[in-house]
Amino acid sequence: MGLVVQKYGGSSVADAQCIKRVAQRIVATKKAGHDVVVVVSAMGDTTDELSDLAQQITPLPPPREFDMLLTAGERISMALLAMAIQNLGQIAKSYTGSQAGVLTTSHHGRAKIIDVTPGRIRQALDEGAIAIVAGFQGVSQDTKEITTLGRGGSDTTAVALAAALGADVCEIYTDVDGVFTADPRIVPAARRIPRISYAEMLEMAACGTKILLHRCVEYARRYQIPIHVRSSFSTKVGTWVADAETVDAARRAHVVDVPSVSEESQMEQPIISGVSHDRTEAKITVVAVPDKVGEAARIFKTLADAEINIDMIVQNVSGVATGRTDISFTLPRADGQQAMTALAKIKDTVGYEQLLYDDRIGKVSLIGAGMRTNPGVAARFFQAVAEAGVNIEMISTSEIRVSVVVDEDEVDAAVAAAHHAFDLDSEEVEAVVYGGTGR
Ligand code: ASP
Ligand code: MG
Repeated sequence: MGLVVQKYGGSSVADAQCIKRVAQRIVATKKAGHDVVVVVSAMGDTTDELSDLAQQITPLPPPREFDMLLTAGERISMALLAMAIQNLGQIAKSYTGSQAGVLTTSHHGRAKIIDVTPGRIRQALDEGAIAIVAGFQGVSQDTKEITTLGRGGSDTTAVALAAALGADVCEIYTDVDGVFTADPRIVPAARRIPRISYAEMLEMAACGTKILLHRCVEYARRYQIPIHVRSSFSTKVGTWVADAETVDAARRAHVVDVPSVSEESQMEQPIISGVSHDRTEAKITVVAVPDKVGEAARIFKTLADAEINIDMIVQNVSGVATGRTDISFTLPRADGQQAMTALAKIKDTVGYEQLLYDDRIGKVSLIGAGMRTNPGVAARFFQAVAEAGVNIEMISTSEIRVSVVVDEDEVDAAVAAAHHAFDLDSEEVEAVVYGGTGR
């Protein structure tokens, strides 16, 4: 049969009871004839608690020691889970990221996976064991230090392992039933999406949908690993994140819970897959920039040198009388102060008049591959937002996305209006949140 990588998030292994329940689920997969590799997160809010503990010792924990501390969270859950599985009569062995062959860059707190050499995991599988791997950690290839991948990094561990082992599917178990057409807390009539392409999921992740990290989806797309996002609190089929061909391959490998061909062709492909929103950005406007060659380059080079990621950019036509123009852009709020300081330093060289900072904004994005071939999507979106009485401050688009910036307080109204306008509302309430954290 197949090789399945399963990842269980913090809320799925929050206490002893949860761990025992998850163990049963893993054993059932094994008994169905699959080889099983499991990636675990730290129990419940352990990572936050460890981080708070470090803060009580020192306001600036040394990065090496901080990583060492945080990786302990995943070690606790992996060992307990291995014990719970052994109690059910199966062989299970736990491995740290380093033992599992997760090789990373040396940047503590945000290391990137360079390579995965899962020799020991292979060996465990060959011996008939279930391998349990600590998520979100690895070992630096050059410094040999223990590293972490950044918050929420266990999903990336799971996909990277699935790729290295040539797994048929990577199942991500969380506390919701899959990816929804909008955040169910804002739109109770949001629907579960049965399958979504990598490209659309990448856009949703980039636009604020938190269920999967952008990095994890990127990895899955590169290695064509189908991801099945589902709840560990129910047995429902969740959302398949994969292109149609990848789903076909999983079907041929007899992977469990793949939608059948007929089921999939029955699902009418909607124009819009979902509506995402993001309240973590801020907007900066550089007022009255002289309309000369090279000014935009100078402004954005300054921001690039400060390692600030820019999202939307809008530049108006310059006024005939003034020969000056305003340039607005959005960026992560966390980088707002740093960007303002960097830009203030080039005020005289650029010759702009002033800087405006606004962090009371939100971004609402409509995502769907169907907009490539269906005209009028943007018009319908803007109309819906207007009918909700919401003013649009900025607009940006990609081939499969239209985003608008609106007032922070009007995000919910805009999301609901767009969801409704594209007939995404379901008749019954489908979304159940089983855990507490939303991860
Ligand atoms: N335990 C880590 C965190 O909470 C990694 C993860 O859950 O993916 O961020
Ligand atoms: Mg977590």
